[in-house]
Amino acid sequence: MVKKITESVYVIEHEEAANNVIIIGKKGVVLVDTSLFPEKAKSIAKFIRDLTMKPVELVFNTHYHPDHTFGNTAFDCPVVAHILTREKMEKFDNSYFEELGLDYFELHLPDIIFEDEFDYEDNLKIQFIHGPGHTPDSSYVYIPQENVLITGDTVINSMHPEIVQDSNLSIWMKTLEALPKAKYVIPGHGEPGDYSSVKDMIDYIDKIRKLLAGELSANQLDSDPNFTQRQHMELLEWSIKNLIS
Ligand SMILES: [Zn+2]
Repeated sequence: MVKKITESVYVIEHEEAANNVIIIGKKGVVLVDTSLFPEKAKSIAKFIRDLTMKPVELVFNTHYHPDHTFGNTAFDCPVVAHILTREKMEKFDNSYFEELGLDYFELHLPDIIFEDEFDYEDNLKIQFIHGPGHTPDSSYVYIPQENVLITGDTVINSMHPEIVQDSNLSIWMKTLEALPKAKYVIPGHGEPGDYSSVKDMIDYIDKIRKLLAGELSANQLDSDPNFTQRQHMELLEWSIKNLIS
């Protein structure tokens, strides 16, 4: 299902999988994140064709995780991502595919890389900005004219975020606090919302830090709506394990 956010921005919603965001410029489309399965990415391409006659000019990967990047293969246009996203993806081999239960296929690695920021103009100015924390390469997209922020997994709504082994909570906090205060916030997973989803994420990461520092008990989180109202409680346990290993 496609949800319209603003005149130029649409989100393809697929339950809990990563959100795909379609930005329609004057001459073409920019797609943010491409899903885990090439087959699914083909259905994303079809959604775009149903929505507009304009071609996909550019794909952007918010970070290297396969559920955001593997569908790149379904698109012929250039892929833009942070330099570390490309470095990580270059290391994915057969055994990594096996772990994911996938048959090996050749990935479409990012063709255009950046370090701090990459700006793209197509009537709309679209800014791709490095914002590490969830992973070292994590980046977000800001479209000032549309008042839209696309966060990748830096912000997650409706479910627990995945805190992975290369997550860094204090860097993540800095990125969250520096995010533009946009009216529309599209998270990596879960329902699109507003700036309150950034505030919830700041609160969430802060409480995880306090839990690890022994300043908060697990019991306190059991009655905290910012924790209890999120789906997939098991992810919280998994995240804590990743942080202490
Ligand atoms: Zn991720």
